[in-house]
Amino acid sequence: MEHRDSTGASQNRPELLAPGGSLEKCRIAFLYGADAVYAGGREFSLRGHARNLTDEELAAACFLAHSMKKKLYVTVNTFARESDIRRLPGYLEYLQDIGADALIISDPGVLLLARKHAPRIPIHLSTQANTMNSSALSFWKSQGVRRVNLARELTFSELQAVSGQSGVELEVFIHGAMCISYSGRCLLSAFLNERSANRGLCTQPCRWSYRLVEEKRPGQYFPVIEDDNGSYIFNSRDLCLLDSLDRLMELGIHSFKIEGRMKGVLYLASTVRTYRQAVDALIENPLDYKVKKHWMEDLDRVSHRPYTRGLLFADSRQEGSPVASETTYCQTHTLAGIVRPSPHNSWARSLSGLSPKRHMVYVEVRSRLTPGTLLDFLNPDGTTVSHLLDDFEDLQGNALNVAHPNTWIRFPASLPVFPCQVVRMKRVADAKERRDLK
Ligand code: SF4
Repeated sequence: MEHRDSTGASQNRPELLAPGGSLEKCRIAFLYGADAVYAGGREFSLRGHARNLTDEELAAACFLAHSMKKKLYVTVNTFARESDIRRLPGYLEYLQDIGADALIISDPGVLLLARKHAPRIPIHLSTQANTMNSSALSFWKSQGVRRVNLARELTFSELQAVSGQSGVELEVFIHGAMCISYSGRCLLSAFLNERSANRGLCTQPCRWSYRLVEEKRPGQYFPVIEDDNGSYIFNSRDLCLLDSLDRLMELGIHSFKIEGRMKGVLYLASTVRTYRQAVDALIENPLDYKVKKHWMEDLDRVSHRPYTRGLLFADSRQEGSPVASETTYCQTHTLAGIVRPSPHNSWARSLSGLSPKRHMVYVEVRSRLTPGTLLDFLNPDGTTVSHLLDDFEDLQGNALNVAHPNTWIRFPASLPVFPCQVVRMKRVADAKERRDLK
């Protein structure tokens, strides 16, 4: 019989789980097809640089999720200090009151408090707990954990060995940045910058270029040459398991998780809509799953390090090194803006107003825009509608020759849009085409 969990996900229908670094990002993740979103509060959530959500925003995100028949999981995955322990009970009770669908936890002390102060919320074990074997899975099950996010260090054959062994739901990361250390258990940032990765404040010094110094020759830096770019021995590529989803589904993985609570909305919309299409295609025809060209194009159009399948297939030697020998990101496109509702309409009216006729489009600008910019409006179904920006004006009706980030513009167009729709453009450096189109 098909096993179905509390989220409606099953071994034949894995859940797509996306990051929500702010209330708006939660909304965008849901609109672009996530089944569930994980988000953190202002404290205890291990992403100190992410905006995170206030208590009121967490309540709004839960309401939004449930109104869309989706789930909101709240990260409480800090490694708690004694001062945290005193403040956690009230917070956990609040999360239960607002109807959070799961708590993501790594610290056994927090787990104990969650069972006592929020007993109705299922507990998901964070990747920070580094779960790598069936005995550990059984242990966490005995502690009341419903789901475990398996360590990214597992190979596929190890994953195969532990799947189906434990009676807990299994979750794996399928996309996003990776740590070169064991799932964030790393002191580099704490030592070099006094910003602890285990408090959510990592400054990513693993991505820097390193040299060697002999202690009696201070100031003489010997290069450690890996290639012409220098040596970036700790600089991990980004994970992308788009082409391995069928093999993961065969193992009965319940949840496919996308990394990136600190990433921008272009990353979020692009990855979620790509994996939504991929998971749907997989569910529809599991025996004939093939990666479509436009899925990979979408993933290539977000800022990323070169992709890797990580350590998953390392034991079969199918992969090259998961370490990138350069620090620069691959970035051909950037966020142009976000569609906003007309200030003269109510939000609800705009949500339902996908009129195909010519109408005024309102965009909150995030990159410098000029006439001739080709804008890509990303739709949740994977399609993209392009619009060549021509005449545009500010909200007072003044014609503009340039629009700057954090302002709003409006222009007439015939394309269907919706609030929070993400708009992409080529990076200016790559925009020769823009000039040719003028
Ligand atoms: S410094 Fe690098 S390896 Fe260490 S926690 Fe930060 S991202 Fe991970």
